[in-house]
Amino acid sequence: MTAARVPFMRLRPDEDAPAVEAAIRRVIDRGWFVLGPEVKAFEEAFAAASGAKYAVGVGTGTDALVLILKALGIGRGDEVITTPVSAAYTALAVMTVGARPVFVDIDPRRLTLDPAAVEAAIGPDTAAILPVHLYGQPADIEAIAAIAARHKLALIEDCCQSHLATAGGRPVGAFGIAAAYSFYPTKNLGALGDGGAITTNDPGLAERMARLRNGGQTDRYHHLEPGINSRLDEVQAAILLARLSFLPAWTGQRRVLAARYRKELAGAPVHVPPEFDPGHVYHLFPVLSPERDRLRTFLQEAGIETLIHYPVPITRQPALSSERPAECPVADRVCAEVLSLPLYPAMPEAHVVDVADALKRFVPRG
Ligand SMILES: *Cc1c(COP(=O)(O)O)cnc(C)c1O
Repeated sequence: MTAARVPFMRLRPDEDAPAVEAAIRRVIDRGWFVLGPEVKAFEEAFAAASGAKYAVGVGTGTDALVLILKALGIGRGDEVITTPVSAAYTALAVMTVGARPVFVDIDPRRLTLDPAAVEAAIGPDTAAILPVHLYGQPADIEAIAAIAARHKLALIEDCCQSHLATAGGRPVGAFGIAAAYSFYPTKNLGALGDGGAITTNDPGLAERMARLRNGGQTDRYHHLEPGINSRLDEVQAAILLARLSFLPAWTGQRRVLAARYRKELAGAPVHVPPEFDPGHVYHLFPVLSPERDRLRTFLQEAGIETLIHYPVPITRQPALSSERPAECPVADRVCAEVLSLPLYPAMPEAHVVDVADALKRFVPRG
């Protein structure tokens, strides 16, 4: 495979490389590799950056969701209302604790959970609502939080694509009882491996989740309750701490590139989902076309790399076939039409213009 002229993203450390290398060196020299001072320092810094009182470092974003659900006592017999358009891990986390994911359709404009559909799906077994701030765009979280409060349901935010995002000026992740973050390398804040975190303002919940991530231990070899083993390691925590100081600038660059895309794509034969909130952090820049697959090939031939988030709604994944998935026609259509354009903080603006120019040369058949 030859490298694309316009790559989708770049994962190698760049302007942050010296800080990342110094962080790794510091951990090696200290010789303390799991649950040590780097994790503690990162948890404090990440909580502050996210507008939360507490952060708990864990192994992955998926584990962050699992640990929140476990800490809230959600499991067999419980239902969790969530979205069919996300990384499948959102729903898999619900299944991991033995609860049932209940899918409701998305808002066709915002592409996140439709609050009216959420309310209509609430039943006697509903324990929680789990919205995703998809592509970096906040879900309609004020409306969803009001529904959760009215029905006394837990609200858990999947913030795996929305580091530093705000909704109505308030940080996402602070609307519900707890929020899950992923530091998978492609995320807005990425490790050089796997990583995740939970944020919450509830001290008791933070303490319980910190215990549950470490086998349920209160202190060494004393297991109070059956936890899991999902710890953020010192090397990743040190890297994340170093990169966290770049994140506000990187987020700013994502917004500049997204604004340029919006300007350059005027008149192009694709639908660009509107920005509902300036707190959008543009984890991805999706466009929609009824001829998505042909458009993707066309761009590939022009040297432009694209990806699809996501080609299959979670409701249609074989892994979910035991869950009686609901009909979600908007999700079906979005997954058939969506295409993510290249976007990463160091992307040259000239590449945005290249992509837009190529898109404008595409001749739809419909
Ligand atoms: C990446 C992601 C996850 C899973 O995070 P991992 O760290 O890969 O486990 C969950 N939900 C969403 C929306 C994601 O983007």
